[in-house]
Amino acid sequence: MIIETFQPKETYQCGFEIGQNARAGEVYALVGDLGVGKTVFTQGVAAGLGITEPVNSPTFTILQVYDEGRLPFYHFDVYRIGDPEEMDEIGYEDCFYGEGVSFVEWADLIRDIMPEETRWVTIEKDLEKGFDYRKITITDPSDK
Ligand code: ADP
Ligand code: MG
Repeated sequence: MIIETFQPKETYQCGFEIGQNARAGEVYALVGDLGVGKTVFTQGVAAGLGITEPVNSPTFTILQVYDEGRLPFYHFDVYRIGDPEEMDEIGYEDCFYGEGVSFVEWADLIRDIMPEETRWVTIEKDLEKGFDYRKITITDPSDK
């Protein structure tokens, strides 16, 4: 599935709809350059799950857990991860294989431990289409 957005709130809305429809145990991987909109998308997801507290990139903690919504929401930002073993220390398996919804910014850095069933969300710019243009590609594991 490909979605094109032309302003941040459209990317947020795309995330929002995913949050509204997300089911327990789903894992989403977010891939894209710095500043492309991964956090904007994730903020939409959180809102769609019914989370009202502010969601930012948990850059210094790697994982932020939000229990306030319809399902537990596990927000990872692995940009600064040094060694994938840090994910073990955080207890990522309890999140990925648990009853909540996981979102992993920069998941391409820990590709080896992403579950087979991961939904990959890639966000790209195309400056020829404008500064605020984003192309969002979402893979469904059942397509494989
Ligand atoms: P990342 O988490 O990928 O590093 P952020 O979500 O923190 O990126 O930041 C994305 C930036 O791009 C925000 O400042 C946002 O306002 C801006 N932006 C401009 N156009 C869009 C768009 N169509 N979708 C998402 N963000 C956009
Ligand atoms: Mg971010």
